[in-house]
Amino acid sequence: MDARILQEFRAIVGDSGLITSAEQLHTYECDGLTNFRVMPLAVLLPTSTEQVQKIVHVCHRERIPFVARGSGTGLSGGALPVANGIVISLARMNRILDVDFPNARVVVEPGVINLEVTARVSPKGYFYAPDPSSQSVCSIGGNVAENSGGAHCLKYGFTTTHVLGVEVVLPDGSLVHLGGKTLDAPGYDLSGVFVGSEGTLGVTTKVILRIVKRPECIQTLLAAFPSTREAGAAVSGIIGASIVPAAIEMMDNLAIQAAEAAVHANYPNCGGLLLVELDGPTAEVDALMEQVDEICTKCGGTEIRVAQSEAERAVFWKGRKAAFAAVGRISPNYIVQDGVIPRTALPRIMEEIERLSAEAGIKVANVFHAGDGNLHPLVLYDRRIEGQEHAAEQLALRILEMCIEAGGSITGEHGVGEEKKQMMSKMFSEPDLETMQLVRCAFDPLQLSNPSKVFPRTRLCGEKPGRYEPHPLEVAGIAERF
Ligand SMILES: Cc1cc2nc3c(=O)[nH]c(=O)nc-3n(C[C@H](O)[C@H](O)[C@H](O)COP(=O)(O)OP(=O)(O)OC[C@H]3O[C@@H](n4cnc5c(N)ncnc54)[C@H](O)[C@@H]3O)c2cc1C
Repeated sequence: MDARILQEFRAIVGDSGLITSAEQLHTYECDGLTNFRVMPLAVLLPTSTEQVQKIVHVCHRERIPFVARGSGTGLSGGALPVANGIVISLARMNRILDVDFPNARVVVEPGVINLEVTARVSPKGYFYAPDPSSQSVCSIGGNVAENSGGAHCLKYGFTTTHVLGVEVVLPDGSLVHLGGKTLDAPGYDLSGVFVGSEGTLGVTTKVILRIVKRPECIQTLLAAFPSTREAGAAVSGIIGASIVPAAIEMMDNLAIQAAEAAVHANYPNCGGLLLVELDGPTAEVDALMEQVDEICTKCGGTEIRVAQSEAERAVFWKGRKAAFAAVGRISPNYIVQDGVIPRTALPRIMEEIERLSAEAGIKVANVFHAGDGNLHPLVLYDRRIEGQEHAAEQLALRILEMCIEAGGSITGEHGVGEEKKQMMSKMFSEPDLETMQLVRCAFDPLQLSNPSKVFPRTRLCGEKPGRYEPHPLEVAGIAERF
């Protein structure tokens, strides 16, 4: 990078806020999706909104692309750097700025870790509901960018339900405030547009969150089934009975084996395991838990336990929350896939995944938010075996196609990022994608903020951002657009 520009960056963030050495840059070359790696030119670690603004101003003036980064736990390559650009790490902007209990609002900087919000408000009986399994390390800024979900989003809603406003440094360096502490601000819901935009519309520097009062009673049931088919039927049964659990999570036998090897959660060795959590007033939870127990038994549940203490409940969850990382115990490499299907299609799709896995000779472990129909097939492979990585990637993509065919989606919570951008045109029509591009271009006409993510690059070399304009070669009938 030009020494003059580096000097300008150093003047903004100081020596300790600028990383340029190759060894240190390696830390930032990928996120949780490690099969994509790119070295950035530099990493900057600002400590204030003003510093972010100044950095982005320089990027805009010099046409330097930038990628915002929280904790780097993303699973779709969203925080993957671009080779000719910089990374703006928000990790040092990690202060909880305001806690307003009477209005149940909290204002945080983007580098605050998800679980720290709950830790701060729990003494007064509140919690922050969206709970990704990575919540002990992932940042609120990353959660906002990905519209992250978690086990309890079935009842409480995804991140978007809990973000009321954001302060954003736009890609030209200007500062805007979208949404606010009150509900239903007039005008376009731009805070809603920003949530889930995967870093493509600017850098968020403050977030206003909603917190929720902890319910009077929480009970968690664990049920073992011969296979995921029976467990899937129980999920449909519970939802069909108009019960809205706080969470319904499912694990198959491979995932159970992995979790047991890692954290010894004392799970039964079965084909399909359900965790069902109910919360609310004690009388209601007691009555509904009886119903859930009956439904699980009727659907073929062989062993059903309700946690008898907070400690036992924590152990039930420990296995589930550790499951992704635990898969490393049974396979040297794996892809965490993320797709959504209508809940009723669960038994059929699980069988299909099993068939495809057998056909490809690649094992698939399943651990997922069953209540939302949000699948997380973990496609296991060994990079050292010639061709296995490619076969695993193909299988993971085939599973996503199946989700689309079933009327679902290519992502439930991990985002599109780098990994799934080619799948966007399978899910959306050209006008749909163009409309999204128009929004993108309104915020970032120069495409500097996390460029080349989310959208497929299907256009010809004369590509311009915004509404599609045919290339002169196309007009002349020499080239064709597929
Ligand atoms: C073991 C494990 C379990 C997981 N479980 C879940 C789960 O249950 N549910 C779930 O939804 N996800 C889960 N994830 C994925 C991941 O943790 C989430 O996507 C999380 O929100 C990413 O946060 P982060 O701080 O690590 O963001 P990063 O990975 O650093 O970035 C993610 C995206 O956000 C953008 N971004 C980050 N900060 C900002 C900012 N301030 N302004 C603008 N854009 C920004 C980045 O550019 C990137 O596109 C899991 C990951 C792991 C490794």
